Amino acid sequence: MIAARARTFTESVIREMTRVAHKYGAVNLSQGFPDFPMPAELKRAACDAINADDNQYAITWGQKPLRDAIAAKYRDWYDFEVDPEQNVTVTCGATEAMAAVCLALLDPGDEVIVFEPFYENYGPDAILCGASPKFIPLEKPDWKLDPDRLRKAFTKNTRAIIVNTPQNPSGKVISREEMQLIADLCIEHDAWAITDEIYEHIRYEGEHHLLAGFPGMKERTVTISGLSKTFCCTGWRLGYAIAPAEQSVAIRKVHDFLTVGAPAPLQAAGAVGMRFGRDYYAHMSEEYRERRDILLPVLSKAGFKYHVPEGAYYVLADFSKLSKDDDTTFAKWMAKEIGVATVPGSSFYHPGSPDGKTLVRFAFCKTRETLEAAAERLLKLQA
Ligand code: GLN
Repeated sequence: MIAARARTFTESVIREMTRVAHKYGAVNLSQGFPDFPMPAELKRAACDAINADDNQYAITWGQKPLRDAIAAKYRDWYDFEVDPEQNVTVTCGATEAMAAVCLALLDPGDEVIVFEPFYENYGPDAILCGASPKFIPLEKPDWKLDPDRLRKAFTKNTRAIIVNTPQNPSGKVISREEMQLIADLCIEHDAWAITDEIYEHIRYEGEHHLLAGFPGMKERTVTISGLSKTFCCTGWRLGYAIAPAEQSVAIRKVHDFLTVGAPAPLQAAGAVGMRFGRDYYAHMSEEYRERRDILLPVLSKAGFKYHVPEGAYYVLADFSKLSKDDDTTFAKWMAKEIGVATVPGSSFYHPGSPDGKTLVRFAFCKTRETLEAAAERLLKLQA
């Protein structure tokens, strides 16, 4: 016996593909986690915190030094005032932040607008709240957003829109004009914007626009981000949500009863990272650009078609020149026979959508050696 709600969505295909990669000894370009070390300074800070006996619960909504560092960063980078006492909730990854925010803000029957393709968590997050996701396509090949379609998607039932930029899996960076349109529509329809900005510092084109910073948006936006991607520590599970005071109270309650809090000694180390200077971010982005530029020409040579990602560390690639199989069959075949694991494209589209069926997602947050090993195998596809 299981509850009805747990039957309404499937297990994460991203995590499943990591298991498939292990089974076949494939190079794992499926799940988006780096295979290189995180900054030594953060590792040291974590060990210091553990040795200093910082091993008990932190304050539920996050240790003060980390919340202070988060607030300072938003002031410095985005000229955006955040009160660490009232607006910040530290969570177990951006994943928990998104789930906790949805549970705190959405009621059964609410509609939530989600751009498609989308990161697979948003569907189940909405469903767990009894809300209905409404998918608005980003159109292939260059993931364009049709303003009229978005305008029409907003109705009196719209409670929120989820805005992920840079976007997983498309690599789209939402432009200032698109953000302005989203802001205008949220204000007009009295809707919430819930952002996922976990890749904010991994960009190759365009600017990162903080939606909460647009006029009239601070009081209707929850900004979600985290340390996983920026500091290469996806296993530390450190994320946060920045929200107006009233909503933070609700988010903190949900978060408290879900997890109590994020790991205390890692929060202490996270505070060190959040105070890194701009050079760190510029260098990191440059390294990701190099990784992207190793993989993309190989994909072209192997016969895939794709739009060059502007940000994040994924590329959604069309394989229809290589195979007539559907995405799941092709991804499993490629893991087994070619030795490279990817994520089937349909995981990023609503169930029943035909749009992901000719796509697989490659993650390039990997060392040069890993990418070169993948390249050697992928070139076998030409034959
Ligand atoms: N965000 C990463 C991805 O899309 C990892 C997801 C996860 O496994 N939590 O692959």
